[in-house]
Amino acid sequence: MREWHTLTTGPLETRALGRRLGQLAKPGLVVLLAGDLGAGKTCFAQGVADGLGTPADTPVTSPSYTLLNIHCGRLPLYHFDLYRLSAVADLEDLGYDELAEGDGLTLVEWADRLSTPPPASLRVELRHIDATRRELRFQADDTDGEKLLAALAGAANTL
Ligand code: ADP
Ligand code: MG
Repeated sequence: MREWHTLTTGPLETRALGRRLGQLAKPGLVVLLAGDLGAGKTCFAQGVADGLGTPADTPVTSPSYTLLNIHCGRLPLYHFDLYRLSAVADLEDLGYDELAEGDGLTLVEWADRLSTPPPASLRVELRHIDATRRELRFQADDTDGEKLLAALAGAANTL
């Protein structure tokens, strides 16, 4: 499955989708998240962290000045937030390539700030519809992403 989109009503639904992704994720997965401020990227990332079983005492947040947070779950979660990224050099400085090529799950908020987005299996674009509804558009960019997306979409009505 190359593309799939869905509508969530409320943060819990967005989080549940993220959780399922975290449960399904294989080592080395890279997921890019795009969408305006308040679209729900961090909410989705919190669900992913849940699905990986990261400890609740180090919650996933929208850090103002931190570009990278690492959470330890079934797989390590490398949570990048590029909102304040000023230059591509910063991404290199963060050791992005080494982490993304490792065995964790790399999740990148504000991936669309990069003129050249890094390679990823899955891209998720979140869009604000109204106070409680968000549209999530998923796009798979390789065979791993396609398999994952099929599983995610197949499970969506059982969340
Ligand atoms: P971003 O990281 O994209 O800037 P956040 O996840 O930090 O966005 O914030 C999303 C905000 O929108 C939260 O306050 C959340 O409670 C609210 N919200 C309302 N409805 C939804 C929904 N369906 N999905 C995700 N967030 C929602
Ligand atoms: Mg955020």
